[in-house]
Amino acid sequence: MRRNFILYYLFCVFFISGSCKKEQAEGFFDYRTLGASAHDLLSSAKYPSLQIEIQYMPGYAPDASALNNLVTFLNSRINKPSGINIIQEEIGPSSLSVSSLNNIVNIERSYRNYFTGNDVISVYVLITNGYYSGNNILAISYWNTSFCVFGKPIDDNTDQPGDVSRSVLLTTILEHEFGHLMGLVDQGSPMLTNHRDPANGAHCSNPDCLMYYNVEAGFTDIISAVPSLDANCIADLKANGGK
Ligand SMILES: [Zn+2]
Ligand SMILES: [Zn+2]
Repeated sequence: MRRNFILYYLFCVFFISGSCKKEQAEGFFDYRTLGASAHDLLSSAKYPSLQIEIQYMPGYAPDASALNNLVTFLNSRINKPSGINIIQEEIGPSSLSVSSLNNIVNIERSYRNYFTGNDVISVYVLITNGYYSGNNILAISYWNTSFCVFGKPIDDNTDQPGDVSRSVLLTTILEHEFGHLMGLVDQGSPMLTNHRDPANGAHCSNPDCLMYYNVEAGFTDIISAVPSLDANCIADLKANGGK
């Protein structure tokens, strides 16, 4: 059965809360503004390795192919000579079918185990079992080393006849959200040439680019390829310590 065109888009919230900062110890690296650690993610100077902690709710484990794709993508763009390590853990389900940003932040604060320190920069990815605030939003980036993926709308729109595969969509989402942590577009990695989409925040104006605001809107019935970063986005990453 062919479904309606996928309308969902990747929404990126710039979450800045003074009340959160009060809980942070001096020098605490994580829980800062989106894009604030773009250079440290891209370069090896301070952090030669990257650790990715993925916590998922029951039934929403990421597939191995999506994670392999993510690591390949990251290795092509960031300098982490000591490697990229993924740690996965299942956590309990949320009773909320619809989560707010505060719900998500509270889960991260309760369950996140790994933080940036010594020579390892740590990124936290939460995959929930519900929707985001009643909207058809697939993921949000909200801090310098955190983002959340909403499992339910992804499952609702994948792996049925006429749908994109779940693995391809999840790969696209993971890579797009990492693009935000890496400072795209002009949110931590300054633009060399103007390619920010003025109507859609920290996104690329090129509809073929991974960092286009509704990147998966390009998905038609049969999609097998994850969108790539375009030359402008790659140039910004290179200029900020990436490759
Ligand atoms: Zn986005
Ligand atoms: Zn781009």
